[in-house]
Amino acid sequence: MYNFVLASRNKKKIAELETLFAELSSVGVKLLSLDDIGYEGDIEEDGVTFEENASIKAGVPASLGYIGISDDSGLAVDALGGAPGVYSARYSGEGATDEKNNEKLLFELRDKENRAAHYVCAVCVVIPDSLGINVPEKYVDAELSVYASAKCGRSVKAIAVRGTCDGTIIDEPHGDGGFGYDPYFYFEQFGKTFAEVSAEEKHSVSHRGIAMRKIIDILKNILSEEN
Ligand code: IMP
Repeated sequence: MYNFVLASRNKKKIAELETLFAELSSVGVKLLSLDDIGYEGDIEEDGVTFEENASIKAGVPASLGYIGISDDSGLAVDALGGAPGVYSARYSGEGATDEKNNEKLLFELRDKENRAAHYVCAVCVVIPDSLGINVPEKYVDAELSVYASAKCGRSVKAIAVRGTCDGTIIDEPHGDGGFGYDPYFYFEQFGKTFAEVSAEEKHSVSHRGIAMRKIIDILKNILSEEN
């Protein structure tokens, strides 16, 4: 049995990953949360890329000997040089809320014609070497493994994948589903914003859905060879 710990306290993310991880039960995977392992500390996300931040979060359970998994995501807007990027959750500063972040985004875009934007999600799995799991080199991100080992204080292997999803930022909000920037993120293929579609529809094309499906495939390969 492989215990994976999802380094998040976001109930929606936990529920979503539990559904996806059901596929991995045949290769002996069980998904735990930070609460399940009694971790109560805060995690400082001071990486400069989505992958670094995901590896910092996944490195917390790994520092305790568990396989860690985490995602880090955000919105990158072309006309703003990729901002808000890794600062998406705290774009409007101290006490940021979705509403304030959206207000700032529209203010920054007020005289920009180019409204192209991309949601990005990096998912990282951090595996302590002490578990003796054979992780084929082709899956290992060598540079990120060095970074994650230094951050979590033990020798680990990091696997990272990325999903992206392209859209356009519109001036008026539409829909009340989703979260974050979704009411302003217009997705051409649906002819709607991400706040106007069901969670299933969104995740069939979303940055998070894409990244999660990539990591599940990799984990299936690694763990079925182990068994
Ligand atoms: P985190 O990955 O939980 O740290 O999320 C970072 C931030 O990026 C969120 O607080 C949102 O502002 C934004 N974000 C990431 N994914 C989405 C999405 O699917 N919809 C809307 N906003 C998102």
